[in-house]
Amino acid sequence: MANENKQEMMEKIASLCKRRGFVYPSSEIYGGMQAIYDYGHYGILLKNNIRDAWWRAMVQLRDDVVGLDSAIFMHPTTWVASGHVGGFNDPQVDCKKCKSRFRADHLLEEFGVIIDDKTPIEELNKNLDKLRDEKKLKCPNCGSTDLTPAKVFSLMVKSNIGSPTDELKEENVVYLRPETCGGIYLEYKNTVDSLHKKLPFGIAQVGKAFRNEIVARQFIFRTREFEQMEMQYFLHPDMMKDRYGHWKVERWKWYLEYGIAEDKIRWYKHEKLAHYASEAFDIEYDFKALGGFKEIEGIHARGDWDLSQHSKFSGVDLSYFDQEKNEKFIPHIMETSVGLGRLVFMFLDQAYTEEMVGEETRVVLKLDKRLAPVKVAILPLSKKEELTGPAKEIWNTLKQNFMAEYDETQSIGKRYRRQDEIGAPYCVTVDFETLNDQAVTVRDRDTMAQERIKISELEDYFKGKLN
Ligand code: ATP
Repeated sequence: MANENKQEMMEKIASLCKRRGFVYPSSEIYGGMQAIYDYGHYGILLKNNIRDAWWRAMVQLRDDVVGLDSAIFMHPTTWVASGHVGGFNDPQVDCKKCKSRFRADHLLEEFGVIIDDKTPIEELNKNLDKLRDEKKLKCPNCGSTDLTPAKVFSLMVKSNIGSPTDELKEENVVYLRPETCGGIYLEYKNTVDSLHKKLPFGIAQVGKAFRNEIVARQFIFRTREFEQMEMQYFLHPDMMKDRYGHWKVERWKWYLEYGIAEDKIRWYKHEKLAHYASEAFDIEYDFKALGGFKEIEGIHARGDWDLSQHSKFSGVDLSYFDQEKNEKFIPHIMETSVGLGRLVFMFLDQAYTEEMVGEETRVVLKLDKRLAPVKVAILPLSKKEELTGPAKEIWNTLKQNFMAEYDETQSIGKRYRRQDEIGAPYCVTVDFETLNDQAVTVRDRDTMAQERIKISELEDYFKGKLN
C-alpha cells in the first residue's frame, strides 16, 4: 500500500479512537508521553473482550492449561538469569536534524540488509557506513543524511524499591518486567506442587510489561507499557514437535474464529534462532494502517533454557520427575506470546470500514459481535417521557445480560452514526408506534436492515444473536 494510504488510514483509526473514546494519548494535558496510551470506555471494553476470548480458548476450554497472575516486580536476579540485564538491547540511530529515533536493524532492513538480535554493533555500523558512503542512508522521516552511528540502548525499565534513603543503592534496583513469562517460570514449581499438574501442561497469564522502546510512532502497535497474553507449555522434549504443531494450529484457528480474514495473516519463520531455541514462528497480520504484514504473535520452542537458568541462579532444583518412566529432567518449554494492545489495533484495523450510503460516507467498525464493546444501543425516537420511559425499561432488562447503552441525545441519524463508529452490532429504536404495537425496530449494524420485534421477545432475540 502506498505510503500516503497507510498514513491516512493510521490517522483515521487514531482519530476515531480518540473522538469516540477508545484510546487517548497518555498525559495529554502535560504534552503527552511518547508511545504510552490510555484506554477510554470503549477501548477497555474492547480490550477486555479480546482478553476474555483469548482466555476462553487458552484456559477455559482446555484441561491442560491453568491460570496465573504474577507480580510485576520480581527478584532482580530473575532478569540476570534470563539474560535480559546483559542482553535485552536494541541498536539505536538518531537523526541529528529532526531528532527522530530509529532502530538500526529496522533502518537496515529497509535497504535489504537483514541482521538478527545477536549481530554485534560494530557490524551494524559497518553496514550503515557502507550505505552512508553510497549516499543511500537517509532519515526516513525528514530525508536528512545526518544520522548518528548506531549505539546500544537497553530496553529494560528500572525502578527501585525499599526505603527512600536506600534509593541510590544498586541492590535496591528492580526492573519492571519486560515480558510476563518470567513470572510464569518462577511459579512453575508452586504450580506443580499445589495443583499437582503432570506434564505436559501450560500456565497462562495476562499482564503488563514494560520496554523502553526506541521507535515510538506506531500508535498502540508498539508501546512502552503494554499488556501481554502469554502461555508457557511445559513438556518432555520428545513431545515438542507434536505439541508445537498443535499450538500453531490452535492459534491460527483463533484468529479466523474472531473474523480475521485468512489472507490477512501469514506465518513468518525465524531462520536465525537463539542458541536454546529449536523453532520460532510469528503470526503476522497485514495492517492497513502500517502498510503491510507485522508481527502480532510469537510461537517459540525454547528448549530447557528458562528453567535451567532459574535452577542455576536460584539453586532450587526445577527438574521434573516422571514416576511412570522413572525419569528426571528439566522440562522444555514452548510459548505462545501476543500483545493485547497489538490485537486491539489489529481488530480495529480489520473492522474499520467506509461505505457510501447515498451521498454520505458511513464509517462503521465491523467488529465480531463477541468482541464489540457495546452490543445493543437503545434509542428513543424522541425525548418525550412516553418514549423514554419504555426505552429505559428495555435498557434495564437488556443490560442484565449484555453491555447495553441508552442514548436520547441528538437526531436518530447522528445516534446511528455514533453507534456504527463504536461498532455496536444492534440499535433498538423506540418510536410512537411502540406505544400501540409493543414492538421496537432493531437495526443491524452491517446490513442496516431493520426488523420489528416484540418487546417481550427482545431478550431472547439478542441471546440468539449475540451468544
Ligand atoms: P517486536 O519485534 O515487534 O519488537 P518482539 O519480537 O520483541 O516484538 P516478543 O518479545 O516476542 O516481541 O513479544 C511477544 C509479543 O508481545 C509480540 O508479538 C507483540 O505482540 C507483543 N509486544 C512486544 N513488544 C511490544 C510493545 N512494545 N508494544 C506492544 N506489544 C508488544
